[in-house]
Amino acid sequence: MLTSRLPGRVEPYRLAAHDEHLEGLVALAELARLTEAIGEQAGDARVWLDFTIDAQGRRVISGRLEADLLLACRRCLAPMPQRVESDFLLGMVTSDALAAELPSTHEPVLVEDEQLNLLAVVEDELILSLPQVVYHDEAECQVSPEQLNSTAPAETSEAPADSPFDVLRHLKGKS
Ligand SMILES: [Zn+2]
Repeated sequence: MLTSRLPGRVEPYRLAAHDEHLEGLVALAELARLTEAIGEQAGDARVWLDFTIDAQGRRVISGRLEADLLLACRRCLAPMPQRVESDFLLGMVTSDALAAELPSTHEPVLVEDEQLNLLAVVEDELILSLPQVVYHDEAECQVSPEQLNSTAPAETSEAPADSPFDVLRHLKGKS
């Protein structure tokens, strides 16, 4: 189990030269762009990173991250737990021109002044790993498919509280 924090800034070329392994936690609440995308999250992402120089002489980072997020169900807007996992391979480059030379198996990561902002790297990977949309199972969702389809005026006037739009308004008002 990981207990230590991942360092925010590292010198990746030095780490690659020594085949270093880094692992640690990243507080999700500190990731502003992630918060903007999916709302504030509690807890930590778990991150494992191996720095090395590969057979072609590239400085690379092979990594894995895991995070337990709460994402809004597209149908009822209530938060639902979602495990996000990603395995990735990064190639260090010092310019955009060099990034174009990397094979498609590698994602470029720009290293400036021998420094790398690891938190930004983790945040980028997390955002790339987010599912496009999430839905509860029908049995667990607060909006049933029948409610979504029942747009006939006779039905909604009989039971206005059951209208999916009322449910949505209610949930939005709470947050
Ligand atoms: Zn739902």
